[in-house]
Amino acid sequence: MAKVLIIGAGGVSNVVVHKCAQVSEVFDEIVLASRTKSKCDTIAASLSRPITSEQVDADNVPQMVALIKKHKPDLVLNVALPFQDLPIMDACLETGVDYLDTANYEPIDEAKFEYKWQWAYQDRFKEKGIMALLGSGFDPGVTNVFCAYAQKHFFDEIYTVDIVDCNAGEHGHPFATNFNPEINIREITQKGKYWENGQWKEIDPMSISLDVDYPEVGPRRSYLLYHEELESLVKHIKGLKRIRFWMTFGQAYITHLQVLQNVGMTSIVPVEYEGRKIVPLQFLKAVLPDPGSLGTNYKGKTCIGCIFNGVKNSQQKNLMIYNVCDHAECYKETGAQAVSYTTGVPAMIGAKMMLTGQWKKPGVWHMEQFDPDPFMEALNKYGLPWKILEGKTLEN
Ligand code: NDP
Repeated sequence: MAKVLIIGAGGVSNVVVHKCAQVSEVFDEIVLASRTKSKCDTIAASLSRPITSEQVDADNVPQMVALIKKHKPDLVLNVALPFQDLPIMDACLETGVDYLDTANYEPIDEAKFEYKWQWAYQDRFKEKGIMALLGSGFDPGVTNVFCAYAQKHFFDEIYTVDIVDCNAGEHGHPFATNFNPEINIREITQKGKYWENGQWKEIDPMSISLDVDYPEVGPRRSYLLYHEELESLVKHIKGLKRIRFWMTFGQAYITHLQVLQNVGMTSIVPVEYEGRKIVPLQFLKAVLPDPGSLGTNYKGKTCIGCIFNGVKNSQQKNLMIYNVCDHAECYKETGAQAVSYTTGVPAMIGAKMMLTGQWKKPGVWHMEQFDPDPFMEALNKYGLPWKILEGKTLEN
């Protein structure tokens, strides 16, 4: 029995809270805190058991410390934005409480995804005897666990990994992002990057693409992007020669994005407007649909997985591990679309792993550094069943 403090009350949080509330044998008490308390109250009102709502500015470490001291949680589960990762980790250090997030820290004034800032907490977390689990969403998160599972059960050495992320759903809006627009657009408009033969190779944004045949969905154009789990997986997967990340985008999405970029609306450099500074991308976020509200008419499926090539008992082997998730079914269960759902469920499972002691050691860790088996079992149990496709390559 444990008490969890969840920070952030957006699309992903809504799913995390629903899922934690379902698993009452572990999550005995739930406190939900965010910048706008009314959003916490709305989520609380949609549940069948009571939780506590609070207001907090998570950028403010003393406020976070006071909140943690007031509620004395066993774990702080951060599903606010990547900008809040470090202040929340600071507050956890000060109060001696475990930490979990779903996205790596980014400085607000620079679209740069690197773990160096969070890895710098390793010694302090160890000395304090507390744990941080980084990136417990789907990608990063489940994709890291798929890699650990493939390494443990199917390969002596993995040579290549292609992480493939397809959203074949339709939400009915001409342009919308499936998670926080600011974070999503920063991710897509930066340079692409992959790792091959010990080196990072950088490419122009969206300049490499191919058709991937996704199980239960079919062929979809997929673009090579940089994604944060690549940085930890190159350190932890044995024998790796290449790792890449691919994501699908429809032509209408790409055209909208190009226009927005061309007119300067995706810039994170502040501009002067009627006597005050505004960040164009933050303004754009304010006029785009809230990702948390997209679920209502969302139809279709997501398919996210990892395609491996490697060797087992001296034999070459290809294999894919993946999950398919249906937007409408996610909405029926939690009021959220599948992108929020596929992130929120693994966040709850990661928290459960820590609180039940199945994954527990002081320090700052990635998902692939733990035994994948109990997590994989939990995915099947809590709404994200996975499948294995033998012989699958990126091309077939
Ligand atoms: P939303 O924008 O819907 O929600 C973010 C929430 O954080 C909002 O409630 C917001 O409050 C709150 N927040 C922002 N700043 C602060 C602050 N200073 N103090 C307290 N609360 C704050 O985002 P999503 O739910 O779509 O995404 C949540 C996280 O999940 C992001 O970090 C995202 O990158 C990550 N993610 C990870 C994925 C994965 O697979 N690993 C996939 C998708 C998302 P307010 O409402 O007042 O603005």
